[in-house]
Amino acid sequence: MSTAPLPLARPHSRTETSAPWVWLAGRSVMLIALYYAVGLWGFVFTPDAYGIPLVWPATGVGLAFVYVYGYRLLPALGIAASLITWQFTSPMMPLPEALGSVVATLAGVALGTHGLRRFGFSARFERLRDVWLLLLIGGLAASGSAATAGAWGMAAGMESLRFSNTWWLCWMADLMGLMLVAPVLLTWLGAGLTRHAEQNHARAAALGFSLVAIAGLVYAGHLPTGIAMPLSYAVFPLVMLAAVRCPVHITTGLTMAAGAIALSGTGWGMGPFAEMGLEVSLLSLNAQLALLVLTALVLSAMRGEREAAEARARQHLDDLARAGRLSTLGELSAGLAHELNQPLCALASYAQASKRLLERGRMEELKDALAQLDASAHRAAETVRQMRAFAAGHSPEFSSIALPDLLRPVLDLLRPELRRGRVQMDVSVPNALPRIKAAPVQMEQVLVNLLRNAMEATEGRSDRQVRLSVQGEDTELRITVTDNGPGIPEHRLPALFDPFATWKSGGLGLGLSISRSLVEAHGGHLTARNREAGGAEFQFTLPVEDRDART
Ligand code: ADP
Repeated sequence: MSTAPLPLARPHSRTETSAPWVWLAGRSVMLIALYYAVGLWGFVFTPDAYGIPLVWPATGVGLAFVYVYGYRLLPALGIAASLITWQFTSPMMPLPEALGSVVATLAGVALGTHGLRRFGFSARFERLRDVWLLLLIGGLAASGSAATAGAWGMAAGMESLRFSNTWWLCWMADLMGLMLVAPVLLTWLGAGLTRHAEQNHARAAALGFSLVAIAGLVYAGHLPTGIAMPLSYAVFPLVMLAAVRCPVHITTGLTMAAGAIALSGTGWGMGPFAEMGLEVSLLSLNAQLALLVLTALVLSAMRGEREAAEARARQHLDDLARAGRLSTLGELSAGLAHELNQPLCALASYAQASKRLLERGRMEELKDALAQLDASAHRAAETVRQMRAFAAGHSPEFSSIALPDLLRPVLDLLRPELRRGRVQMDVSVPNALPRIKAAPVQMEQVLVNLLRNAMEATEGRSDRQVRLSVQGEDTELRITVTDNGPGIPEHRLPALFDPFATWKSGGLGLGLSISRSLVEAHGGHLTARNREAGGAEFQFTLPVEDRDART
């Protein structure tokens, strides 16, 4: 039999901090030592009749090292395979066959590594295809080639062995060994280490302890076969639990530990499988272990696939939310024009007023007008900033604020228009009001929208009146804007807050829809109705920040 390690994918971006030759020497020594150790262990399972080990994990070791660290480990693998071949088969295997066996081992590992890389195998075992790839390519290329080399050498050395029988035994031994050690080495040396942060140490320790205890009990040879045999299956639920709940390198580690105990016990003639003679017993045990390893890998991979599907679904939802925001952004870019209109009009009228005041030399009033101009420019900039934050998915910053502090800049902003249109504005705000938690500029936008609509509704009247009143209640503030305009025709009321619903020439129909979204984002409600005395009434609520904190 041979011991061809299967080649794997390139090292998973492991950092080589030491000098390259030190790194290579270190990995080579590790490979040779481990290969030799499992080779020694494999010879425990050698029935006298054949001299062929029935479990040969060395191939799996070679494959894992070459896959993870690259083809540069092949020379070390050649040394390891030569050592083992020379030590254990030299009496019966002629030198050319022994050399041929080593070369075939190397070729099998190189071919297997190439195949795994070629087909995109990932040592994380997060997809079912990774399990099948390891089984197929490992089984066909590495184990197949290794078995051919081994069987050829053995058959040449011992007349009594038929090549086909020997090949079959070698292949089974290689494949079993590979399935036992390759997953654990692949996940520990390669992909697994990156997942250490997620692991639950207590759970892994409890599972590991239970597995070792059961395997120890079953294979220590103290229990009658009638009990030990069914008990040997108790490792299955534990390994399945590990596969579902633990990172894959923990699962492969636990599976290998259980397998190693089972094989060692049986090899030394203990446990329920030992009674049938080494060959039969090991083949039966191998079948059970192969099932165990496959169960662990398949479940881990299915879990990986489910997690990947969930991650994709989450990503999809994020994309949808973003797309939703961006399509809203389409509406909001129209809204932006709407919201910027007010500060820009104010800018223009304060600029004109400033010019007039400058011409007349009224410096004190000029200072005031320039301050308003400055405030309007800041408001425009803040509106743009908030739109950008909205598009990027940031939530607005809420702060604790007293309502009068919100009203002041709004009235300042509207003052030129009120004066120009001769609109009488009444404001009624009680002295002691609870504070609210709000994004100030958004609330100012709502107030400006409602007040401007009210002003526009009164256009054409000689006694234009707009009234803003605030009532403080225990849990919320109620802000009401009324006017003495014509009111809202009843049939328009149901669609009043829909985007782009407008009955004004040059209107955008966005002010009310944006205002309602903003109020609702603050946990309040915005409603509209007609007053009995005539005119419209818009009212919105805002939850108070803390009913004990009064302004
Ligand atoms: P816009 O003002 O651009 O039309 P809005 O969403 O702010 O968009 O308003 C939608 C419609 O609601 C207006 O076209 C108007 O017909 C009606 N409306 C809003 N406020 C009042 C009001 N105070 N009185 C009468 N109608 C109003």
